[in-house]
Amino acid sequence: MLLNELPKYIQPVKLCRTAPLKGTQLSGDISLCNLNDLSQELKSQKNAVVSVSLNFSTDGEGICCIKGDLAVNLSLICQRCLQPMDYFLESSFQVSPVASDQEAQHLPSRYEPLLTHDGEISLAEWIAEEIHLALPLAPRHEPSCVSYDTKDEGDESGSNSPGSPFAKLADLK
Ligand SMILES: [Zn+2]
Repeated sequence: MLLNELPKYIQPVKLCRTAPLKGTQLSGDISLCNLNDLSQELKSQKNAVVSVSLNFSTDGEGICCIKGDLAVNLSLICQRCLQPMDYFLESSFQVSPVASDQEAQHLPSRYEPLLTHDGEISLAEWIAEEIHLALPLAPRHEPSCVSYDTKDEGDESGSNSPGSPFAKLADLK
């Protein structure tokens, strides 16, 4: 059980209007395995917990403003050596709740639209979406893969060049 569990559904507009200037803070943890919209690979990381921090307020124009941060330690597959790698995913976002796509089009560009249904949104669906957006397309061990055999990269310039130790070895034979 998580100590600091967030509600399953929230009403963003209501939260933004509760304390429009000071803002309403909502922080807590969501287990990755509760985020149904994520890939099986991510959901199976049973111990991974997303720390979420959200602030609901209204801006100077009276528009609902939600500023959010999330952070989670993931295990991803390195796209260079295909071995697992630890990846610290961190993301900040600024959204405004809308009831329809039409409403979304009128939103100032500094906000991403957050589509609600009857004023509600599933926190799990929303956070899964934000994680999707923040995931690297091709995660790689940085600066290089520990277990990775650099032969492939070396082939481009290495063994054919005259100064290569391999060339000298060949001479000895
Ligand atoms: Zn790697």
